[in-house]
Amino acid sequence: MHSHKGCGPKVLRRTLLKGMGALAVAPLMAGLGAKNVFASQPGDKPRIGNKGSHNTRLVLLGTTGGMTWWPGSTRASNSQALLVGDAMYIIDLGFGSCARLAEAFNFGHFITIGGQRTQLELSTFLSNMRAVFFTHLHMDHLGDYPTFLEIGARAGYAKKQPLVIIGPGDRGRLDDNLSGYKGTVIQAESCNPPFTTPTPGTKMMTSHILQAFAQTFNDCAQDEGYPDIPKIIDVREIGDPTAIPWPSGFVIPDPGKPWTSDITCPAMTPFEIYKDDRLCVTAILVDHYEVYPAFAFRFDTEDGSLVISGDTGPDTRGNLQKLAKGADVLVHEVIDDFWIKASFKGVKAGEPAWPLYHHVITAHTSTADVGRVAQQCGVKTLVLSHIAPANAPVARLRLAQQNFSGKLIVGEDLMEIGIGKPQGRSKA
Ligand SMILES: [Zn+2]
Ligand SMILES: [Zn+2]
Repeated sequence: MHSHKGCGPKVLRRTLLKGMGALAVAPLMAGLGAKNVFASQPGDKPRIGNKGSHNTRLVLLGTTGGMTWWPGSTRASNSQALLVGDAMYIIDLGFGSCARLAEAFNFGHFITIGGQRTQLELSTFLSNMRAVFFTHLHMDHLGDYPTFLEIGARAGYAKKQPLVIIGPGDRGRLDDNLSGYKGTVIQAESCNPPFTTPTPGTKMMTSHILQAFAQTFNDCAQDEGYPDIPKIIDVREIGDPTAIPWPSGFVIPDPGKPWTSDITCPAMTPFEIYKDDRLCVTAILVDHYEVYPAFAFRFDTEDGSLVISGDTGPDTRGNLQKLAKGADVLVHEVIDDFWIKASFKGVKAGEPAWPLYHHVITAHTSTADVGRVAQQCGVKTLVLSHIAPANAPVARLRLAQQNFSGKLIVGEDLMEIGIGKPQGRSKA
């Protein structure tokens, strides 16, 4: 039991409350005879569950993107779970995705006492979670990361081994200021202590999350026995020479020179960022225009291969085509071409809507282009995700089929996609 040094009044109040709680519960428990307690029953079935028709399964947890809430849609922001046997992996954690994660996989153990059904203990449905991958550091891909770090720890991640978290390093400088913004730069660059950067990488972001939510993290650890989170996560950055080296020939932007889109996505060869006994993960830069670095990831398992494009424009200097060559499944971002034309009709440089329009047409891939990209990659199945706007009609999204001869799937939250041959057992 820990002590509350120097917190006199709080100790008194909290000790009192705990004492009252114990007193209130005691008569209830004493009144329950053994004959009223029945054996543990199976928990409510999660929507997806830990067994499926395929050994390698992709589960779409969030299928929209963009820094907005789209009216008329319940799609969560971008996130995927990948299951290989009983091992789980997550790619991106956009806002709303943790609720989907629980909906997909959370299960409990329930008992009936005196006719009352009740859950026993807390669920640890994430105990086979091995790694989390971030394609790039935009909130529609990591808004639920703080929730995952804290609530996920209690749900069992890192129960068996430290949880590996891999994402981009510090970008090194801000994007071009296309909107003429003259306001506050958060964490503006400082070469003096505490050496702030306006573009923190995955390690600094994680450490800032722990600081910002310190009250919750500390309270849950000390009062409720939550795990020692800084000790059970293994955060690695793509670009950190101490963790994962940049591939040779990689171009690191020179902060002293004007930045162009050309150096955010130089042509390169895929490089390995993670490997275990279930899969190998390779990465390559894609072109999220001035948003740098942005990666696509490829996951190769004994059953087949899956590529997640991350956020990218259609021209990656051939990088995505190299990474995704011959893959079974390509999950690619998409933006509705009809919506772009309707929303930004006639907009000109210098007008208020122009910066967003510029972002939309340079940093993302439209329905008109995505099929062609998938065709060039030679993938069997194209899954549209990161669908923007989230309320775009499915029929319009299906126009992506025009330039693609393979199978087209318009992604939905909690859609499950098997990779490789079915195992010949029914879905749990
Ligand atoms: Zn996005
Ligand atoms: Zn993005």
